Amino acid sequence: MAQCPKCGSKTLVIMKEWDYAAFHVKNLHCKLCNRNFKAYFKEGQLSHIIDNNKISPRTRILRYLKEHNSACTQEIATALGLEINDILRILAVLEQKGRIERLVYMN
Ligand SMILES: [Zn+2]
Repeated sequence: MAQCPKCGSKTLVIMKEWDYAAFHVKNLHCKLCNRNFKAYFKEGQLSHIIDNNKISPRTRILRYLKEHNSACTQEIATALGLEINDILRILAVLEQKGRIERLVYMN
């Protein structure tokens, strides 16, 4: 099992998991230092860990959208451990630059 790259804790919450190319990816959350990171597994063995906190929120959001094609704001917030307001601010900038397209669903 993976451990937190910052504090070494093994008490991790799996936020989400999915398959990405040859890897099985787990989005893990460390309760001790309140960090999110991704652990990449190959054939059941831990391959490497990417500490999300070293990457800017904007890059993380773009990566997330690239991996998932589309996502709602709440989904991004849960997966990346970011505040909704921060995400909305970043999405507005990205939309202005033409990097993303936002869809509004009416109920
Ligand atoms: Zn930790």
